[in-house]
Amino acid sequence: MDLNCIDMGTHCDQVVSGESTDELVTAVHGHMKLAHGLTDQELASKDEMIRGAIWQSARPADIRTPRPEI
Ligand SMILES: [Zn+2]
Repeated sequence: MDLNCIDMGTHCDQVVSGESTDELVTAVHGHMKLAHGLTDQELASKDEMIRGAIWQSARPADIRTPRPEI
């Protein structure tokens, strides 16, 4: 799973990866601390937003309406 940092409302082009949602959340926390200087308290208050961004990015980018084949 990947999450673009920009999807969390930053102007950062970093992509964070993890094997599962929890791993990705942990990786995002690490990145937010290192690259953006967030504290554990700030991250705790953003946990719901981070999981929301992961959930959004896990969905297909464009859902096509099925068309009959010609
Ligand atoms: Zn970032």
